[in-house]
Amino acid sequence: MKYVDEYRDPQLIRNVVREIERQIDPDRHYRIMEVCGGHTHAIYRHGLKDLLPDNIELIHGPGCPVCVLPMGRVDDGLSIVEHPGTILTAFGDMMRVPGTRGTPLEFKARGSDVRMVYSPLDALRIAQNEPDRHVCFFAIGFETTAPSTALTLLRAKELGITNFSVFCNHVTIVPAMRAILDSPDMRLDAFIGPGHVSTVTGCRPYEFVSRDYGKPIVISGFEPLDMLESIARILVQLREGRAEVENQYRRIVPWDGNIPALRAMAQTFELRPYFEWRGLGFISQSALKLSDAFAAWDAERIFDVPGVRVTDPKAAQCGEILKGVLKPPQCKLFGKECNPEHPIGALMVSSEGACAAYYRYARIDEPAAATA
Ligand code: SF4
Repeated sequence: MKYVDEYRDPQLIRNVVREIERQIDPDRHYRIMEVCGGHTHAIYRHGLKDLLPDNIELIHGPGCPVCVLPMGRVDDGLSIVEHPGTILTAFGDMMRVPGTRGTPLEFKARGSDVRMVYSPLDALRIAQNEPDRHVCFFAIGFETTAPSTALTLLRAKELGITNFSVFCNHVTIVPAMRAILDSPDMRLDAFIGPGHVSTVTGCRPYEFVSRDYGKPIVISGFEPLDMLESIARILVQLREGRAEVENQYRRIVPWDGNIPALRAMAQTFELRPYFEWRGLGFISQSALKLSDAFAAWDAERIFDVPGVRVTDPKAAQCGEILKGVLKPPQCKLFGKECNPEHPIGALMVSSEGACAAYYRYARIDEPAAATA
């Protein structure tokens, strides 16, 4: 299959592994964060960790949108469907994310009208087909999914559909990366940059990583060869004392991003002054809300959501995993009380969650801690 087979070619992979071995300093320990949850899954699904020298430590970043959503926001979203005549729609991976009173799927089982959709446009179509009901879309995701919400809002406005709203939880990746770089807990050498988000943002937003923090960042694809080549490029930069933004995923990621998508986002959203991230706390200007021009479609202005902060269950260590301070098996609940059948944290639910990746693919023999 084109764009897959050539990126899984065993001989090419062996060549890149040899290049990694050539570039590495055996006396140095390397801490490299893969920002995107899709990369975490690729690493374990393809057994890439086993191909790397032991002194390369891969640290999982916060790039899983349902994982970083705090429990209080799940509760807020679910409070909307308790309003009579309301339908709540959400992506599939959101359906099993627990709030304090259950998951969207459990609300559905108890009789609430919660429906899974594949895109916000599906939710808009439900609103068109059921004009006597109000349809709310529970929007989550980074810049990858925000454009589809933006285009749906523009469409709703154009068609004059007023029984539709968006509960907006879109977040932006750059402030989270800055928060991690500023964290005293975290010492990183470099980043494997997010491939999906960058198809929209392009590469320029990451220039601060090299300019302000002196760290290399290589935007990477998701196939084995992509990821190994990105690691090799990082090692070359570190060996040469360089810190630059490189784009390994050129076949998908334009340097300047997707201009029409960015324009649609600028038309519909504005930055929130601050937003709470699970594990990372409140980060200023790190999330989007609907602009005043779209107030009529803003679920937070239409419904009275509780807006209560909720802490994770005490034994759950989702926050430490999201910050890269611990690895999933170090959470006491991992594989016991918390498993894919009965997830306690969103990291065990999402196809991009680090705990789900470990549970599914990894051998549980990771080093004790990610950072000093
Ligand atoms: S095992 Fe479960 S509770 Fe523990 S960090 Fe992972 S998702 Fe959170």
